[in-house]
Amino acid sequence: MSMDVTFLGTGAAYPSPTRGASAVVLRCEGECWLFDCGEGTQTQLMKSQLKAGRITKIFITHLHGDHFFGLPGLLCTISLQSGSAVTRQPIEIYGPVGLRDFIWRTMELSHTELVFPYVVHELVPTIDQCPTEELKEFPHVDEADNSPKEGQGRTILLDSEENSYHLVDDEQFVVKAFRLFHRIPSFGFSVVEKKRPGKLNAQKLKDLGVPPGPAYGKLKNGISVVLENGVTISPQDVLKKPIIGRKICILGDCSGVVGDGGVKLCFDADLLIHEATLDDSQMDKAKEHGHSTPQMAARFAKRCCAKRLVLTHFSQRYKPIALAREGETDGTAELKKQAESVLGLQEVTLAEDFMVIGIPIKK
Ligand SMILES: [Zn+2]
Ligand SMILES: [Zn+2]
Repeated sequence: MSMDVTFLGTGAAYPSPTRGASAVVLRCEGECWLFDCGEGTQTQLMKSQLKAGRITKIFITHLHGDHFFGLPGLLCTISLQSGSAVTRQPIEIYGPVGLRDFIWRTMELSHTELVFPYVVHELVPTIDQCPTEELKEFPHVDEADNSPKEGQGRTILLDSEENSYHLVDDEQFVVKAFRLFHRIPSFGFSVVEKKRPGKLNAQKLKDLGVPPGPAYGKLKNGISVVLENGVTISPQDVLKKPIIGRKICILGDCSGVVGDGGVKLCFDADLLIHEATLDDSQMDKAKEHGHSTPQMAARFAKRCCAKRLVLTHFSQRYKPIALAREGETDGTAELKKQAESVLGLQEVTLAEDFMVIGIPIKK
């Protein structure tokens, strides 16, 4: 099952011609999950190999404009391009409390009738996810209880034992969220592919005298079979090693994690996507604005034993390396060095718009 990640926007604060506002797509078997949807995400999608109509889930890390101002426009365009009679599962949207009301109001004010259903599931942050002075603007669960006709969606509270939020648990994936510290409450998401049974070992089946047919299907599905000679064959006798699932973690803006949920959920991640808004020489300024530097991101990746770190959400001053004019040093290459100084031999990737990273099946 192929799986890849496409960066549609890698810039902080606002979209520019060289870096779009935050948006990442995780694609698996043709289905697309969008993480953040900054202004201009729909045009970035059109320039990429991806199709907006394939988006089935949207995750918003936090309610700063550069992470979700593209959402109403994108939903309208998907609707326009869908034709009139759409029979599809609702688009599931996950994000902090306040998001449901925002989407509902924009649709109402613009007299927009989307041709497909959607539900907004809201995560309720805790008060320690942002500085105290920002709490006056803290959205309350009660105020968001203004149900749109599209279906309310869930209100998801922190599971304080696990220190995480349970978002998705289907046949293939488990998605959980964890708390981050930022100027306003922000979240990270961990997507874990479930373990799949290994393939049937044809030679062993033959050696044990299992006749081809329904018995194969039963064994593949974990059910023992009894042969005509009375011998019982267990699935573990004939199945190869199970295929371990992949783990992709995407963090929103942050200057750190809150609680141990982040480290637990990102542990051993195959791909960890972390912001690095400013370089290490501006660490104090970055922290003051609730952001990270390459070293801060790398230290988190190290704590989690992440296999690959990708940095994104760069201040617009850091141009993609290929676009830096000759002799001009804007410090972009420095960001990579700073992160790698923490991780030793492990290479760190600086994201650029339209970069695609494949996540191979584990051996
Ligand atoms: Zn941002
Ligand atoms: Zn932010």
